[in-house]
Formats: sequence, C-alpha cells, structure tokens
Amino acid sequence: MRLRHIRGAEETIAESPYVIQEPELHKGSWNQVFGNDNPIQIEVGMGKGRFIMELAQQNPDINYIGIERYSSVLLRGLQKRAQLELNNIYFMCIDAKNMADYFAPGEVDKIYLNFSDPWPKDRHLTSPDFMAVYDKILAADGMVEFKTDNKGLFDYSLEAIPEAGWTITAHTFDLHHDPVMCAGNVMTEYEEKFSSMGNPICKLIAMREPKENEEN
Ligand code: SAM
Repeated sequence: MRLRHIRGAEETIAESPYVIQEPELHKGSWNQVFGNDNPIQIEVGMGKGRFIMELAQQNPDINYIGIERYSSVLLRGLQKRAQLELNNIYFMCIDAKNMADYFAPGEVDKIYLNFSDPWPKDRHLTSPDFMAVYDKILAADGMVEFKTDNKGLFDYSLEAIPEAGWTITAHTFDLHHDPVMCAGNVMTEYEEKFSSMGNPICKLIAMREPKENEEN
C-alpha cells in the first residue's frame, strides 16, 4: 500500500475509542474487552478495514480485531468505523510480528491475511516466522485464511505453509469462479481493485496438523 504520512495520525489513533492502546494489558482476557466469550477473529494488515468491518456487521456473535502497522492507513479505517454502530470490533496499530505478546495461546479462532504485501522484498505474512506466531495464538482447530492476486506469493505460500507444519485444507487459483470457496466471500479493497483489472484471486485455508496426542 502506497503510504503518505498524514499529520496527526498518531495522535488521532492514540485518542480513538476504537483502537486498543495497550494491547499487552489484555493478553488472555480479551473476553473482558468485548464483554462476552464470543470467538475472536483477526485480520492482519487490514488496510482501510472494509473487509473486517463488513464481517463485523454480518456476524454480531463474533468478535473482530483489525491489525494495521501504519497509523496513516489505520486512520482511514477509523473514519469509516465512526459511521458504524458496532460493539464487536476493535483495531490495533502494531506490527503483527509481535501478536504473541498480546494474545494468549489459543485465544484466537481465525486469522485473515488479505493481499498481504510486502512481497518479496520484506518479511511476508505467510513466512515461517509469521506462521510460528499464528501457531502460538490460534486455538487447536483455528485457521488461517489467505487471499491474494499475487501468484508468486501464493505459490510460495502453498509450499512454505505445509513446510511449517500446517495442512492446506482448501485452495483455489480463481476464487471468484469457485462457487464452493467463494460462498459468502467478502471482498477487500484490494480484491475489488485487482479483480476489476481482470486478475484472478487466489485463496487458501490452512490449519495445524493435529499433534500426536490430539489425534484420538
Ligand atoms: N487487507 C487490505 C485489503 O486487502 O484491501 C489491505 C491490503 S494492503 C496491500 C496490506 C496491508 O498490510 C498494508 O496496509 C500493510 O501496512 C499491512 N501490513 C503488512 N505487514 C504488516 C505487519 N507485519 N503488521 C501489520 N500490518 C501489516
């Protein structure tokens, strides 16, 4: 995402009631933040947040947390958030590599990765280091859902994710023409942009391989 710093973005985020300011304080007790025991789902790299806010509107019984590391990008999401009456979504302005500092083992049910730049020049969100972070915080039956139009990144992920000890339970190279995987699909900003340019959208779903003592 091209980034232009917006003056005052940090201050606005620091004062926003929609942004969790000291997430480390809530490790293991996110149910108190939301006031219920509903499952928690996270989008890493939410950008302007259209996808996760749409999910939050559709699913009031699921709690959502959008993570975005750049304040100038998150700021755009806050403007939209202010127009919505929702009590099941918060944002965090952090680098996702530190998520295990903020969530206890098994505290998260699902992680969405949508159009997860940067690739290939920096650490990408389906790399072994990041999969190890997700492994720490996801429930035993938790899953990662990943969408991208970047074939190189997708091919890499199809190989790297199983090598990191995960099973890819489903995948497609053309989501919008796959009626099963596309059922209920919520478009992200980037998905709309790239699919309107004719780029096929790839998607995979990954879960951990069961540990030996969990098999029976
Ligand atoms: N998910 C949105 C979509 O599909 O429209 C935005 C996609 S944008 C290409 C990727 C976003 O991921 C950027 O806003 C970037 O700042 C964010 N991002 C990348 N790596 C991140 C990390 N380690 N922690 C938090 N956000 C990250």
